[in-house]
Amino acid sequence: SPADVASPARTKDVLGRYGITAKKSLGQNFLVDLNILGNIVNAAELDESKGALEIGPGLGALTQQLAKRAGRVVAVELDQRMLPVLEETLSAYGNASVVHGDILKVDLDDLFQRYFADVKGVSVVANLPYYVTTPIVMRLLEEHIPLENIVVMIQKEVADRMAAKPGTKDYGSLSIAVQYYCEPQVVAIVPRTVFIPQPNVDSAVIRLRLRKAPPVQVSDEELYFQVVQASFTQRRKTIFNNLLTRFFGKETRHLLEQALEKAGIDPIRRGETLSLEEFARLTEALQEAGI
Ligand code: SAM
Repeated sequence: SPADVASPARTKDVLGRYGITAKKSLGQNFLVDLNILGNIVNAAELDESKGALEIGPGLGALTQQLAKRAGRVVAVELDQRMLPVLEETLSAYGNASVVHGDILKVDLDDLFQRYFADVKGVSVVANLPYYVTTPIVMRLLEEHIPLENIVVMIQKEVADRMAAKPGTKDYGSLSIAVQYYCEPQVVAIVPRTVFIPQPNVDSAVIRLRLRKAPPVQVSDEELYFQVVQASFTQRRKTIFNNLLTRFFGKETRHLLEQALEKAGIDPIRRGETLSLEEFARLTEALQEAGI
């Protein structure tokens, strides 16, 4: 429609009229391509019965497209300068609301009660500010925010790490944390040319479909993630050496040997070769060893 802000001409016009220059420190790269926006919105599996939580609406390019598809859209924006712009670009969309705040600090329980009480499911959909991608995604997952999907434009390198399989160079604690909570799928690789200003990294759209239950059973989730973290402390070291340093001492190394044997894991393997399932077995064995 003619009021879509997602075109180079309209975006430049709005920035000019409001006297706004993009702030690098806030990760401001505005999307100006309706096809890419269509890919993002489609990946979120929205309809009239669903809600969308957007992080960082900026000028409202994505918010407009979400409002056409979802029953309710709530967009949390940190930069005060965007508020009058959003009033203009969202004026035709009665189902869209803007909340001024920092997504890392906003009370999400309260926000859900206020805006999403009567929708059938909520997805996060966003072109994220890249400087805080991981903290934002980890907050949503660790606080168990009731979401169906998280569909986000992020740095391609981070998307690759989130979706990485064991035994690849991208596989690490971020892959495991994300895959514990979600099924990831990279849905598009995005050229720099669809943004104003252009970022100096490549981008990708990833969909994280939230799991109903974790793919592996562990009795202590916190310990599981500590074991994972420890196993990647020095990527080139063996799992034995990383775990020895973190959880044991010279006198107790036999306990680690026993735990690895019990879990069926060769001590000379590296953390990057272990599946989520193997980390689960290892965590149970280490717990029995009394760490
Ligand atoms: N959604 C718009 C688009 O696609 O054109 C803008 C995306 S831009 C990459 C990221 C947006 O997130 C900016 O508007 C920025 O001001 C906002 N932002 C940055 N840090 C934020 C935070 N901690 N909480 C909420 N919004 C934030």
